[in-house]
Amino acid sequence: MSTPLYSWGRFPRRPQRGHSCVWLDELPAHLNRVIEDHSSSLPYGNGRSYGDSCLAASDQVLHMRSLDRLIEADWDTGVLKVEAGITLAEVLAVAIPRGWFLPVTPGTQFATVGGAIANDVHGKNHHVRGTFGRHVRSFGLLRHGQPEMACSPSVNASLFCASIGGLGLTGVIHWAQLQLMPIRASQIDTTTVRFAHLAEFFSLSDELDDQHEYSVAWVDCLAKGADTGRGVFIVGDHAHYGSLEVGKRAKLSMPITPPVSLINSLSLSAFNNLYWRVHPSQRTQGRSAYEPFFYPLDRILHWNRIYGRRGFQQYQCVIPTANAEAAMGELLRAIADSGQGSFLAVLKRCGDMRSPGLLSFPMPGTSLALDFAQSEHLENVVFPRLDDIVRAAGGRLYPAKDAHMSGADFRQAYPAWERLEALRDPSLMSRFWSRVLL
Ligand SMILES: Cc1cc2nc3c(=O)[nH]c(=O)nc-3n(C[C@H](O)[C@H](O)[C@H](O)COP(=O)(O)OP(=O)(O)OC[C@H]3O[C@@H](n4cnc5c(N)ncnc54)[C@H](O)[C@@H]3O)c2cc1C
Repeated sequence: MSTPLYSWGRFPRRPQRGHSCVWLDELPAHLNRVIEDHSSSLPYGNGRSYGDSCLAASDQVLHMRSLDRLIEADWDTGVLKVEAGITLAEVLAVAIPRGWFLPVTPGTQFATVGGAIANDVHGKNHHVRGTFGRHVRSFGLLRHGQPEMACSPSVNASLFCASIGGLGLTGVIHWAQLQLMPIRASQIDTTTVRFAHLAEFFSLSDELDDQHEYSVAWVDCLAKGADTGRGVFIVGDHAHYGSLEVGKRAKLSMPITPPVSLINSLSLSAFNNLYWRVHPSQRTQGRSAYEPFFYPLDRILHWNRIYGRRGFQQYQCVIPTANAEAAMGELLRAIADSGQGSFLAVLKRCGDMRSPGLLSFPMPGTSLALDFAQSEHLENVVFPRLDDIVRAAGGRLYPAKDAHMSGADFRQAYPAWERLEALRDPSLMSRFWSRVLL
């Protein structure tokens, strides 16, 4: 029996049985077999989604990680064709030495290309490059009982759009062709500045976002009163000179899952205070290797175990520009009142570049993301209060991170859900989709 698979937050705790297939040409027969045996399934990349969107309603997933090969590369144009189970780290390992980088990368390099397309992930440069799906030229899609098909903006275009951010429901993406971005060096030149409150975050973002490829802020989720929304603002650009080096940082590992969460209001408040204070209030320039800049949490393998056996949930919302400052203030006050949250709370402006995807999460506005140890209080008190604020401000939650959103909120926030449902492969069903629709 293979080791059970989970989502990253380990909540809901629904062990998944993974059915792996090693060769692309065996995939159609493999999919048929799994569906015949279990009536439904869901593609599963590397389980870096936090909630239940990567969990099959049948608890039987098609584990795509073994399909991890580079199929074709044109290093003059930066066009790469890969199997969909390859991770972003594996793509970077071949691309960086040739002077290419992912045009969009999320905060983990352990996501697969298939998973990055199916959640249409975004990164610190959403304001200039939009989402991952904008840089996908084509992919192969396999639906149960149908011949394999290629999808691109001009061929099978409706399935192309529905599968970008399609949560794995439209079919199995088995290969993808990506357009990479040229770089001269793998290092990132950074400017860091601390801000005292939320209004300062917005004015820094107004001033600096347009001048830099990457922009993101850490926010102290427990700061109250005049300090609400204080944090550290970081912008960065690929260095113009330097070396093209693949990250080789040794990884640490969280060896066990403690019975209870190691994150509590005391440890959190002490860390947040210290972190804010060690950053100077004047702008500081620096140079960083790309791994600590993009993927700070990947340094510690299995860091998700720190939240204990009950797991955790991430809350990520985006609020439209007109309401962003007021709603972010309300959200941060509500979170500080709850005394809960995580070391890494991230504030980020999203730009107005449209994704081809039907159910893409970002919208022009501001996004807030942070983790919470799982508890009844979280579900019954904290999240309902945050949801009220997001709903009233016309915002929405990110399905890739979600394990609690109500069906009504989902359908209101993602009106294109009906078009996705019409194009869903009837043999694919996730716990997320059955929770918000059925
Ligand atoms: C530390 C950390 C930081 C993160 N930062 C960000 C961030 O900055 N921005 C962001 O957008 N996200 C972020 N995420 C979320 C993560 O990038 C996404 O959830 C990503 O989609 C996970 O990819 P995966 O390969 O692990 O897919 P999984 O989590 O296994 O699956 C995700 C979805 O993709 C579908 N899927 C997987 N493979 C395929 C396939 N081959 N064909 C069709 N469907 C498929 C699944 O059915 C599921 O619906 C972060 C996650 C972590 C753990």
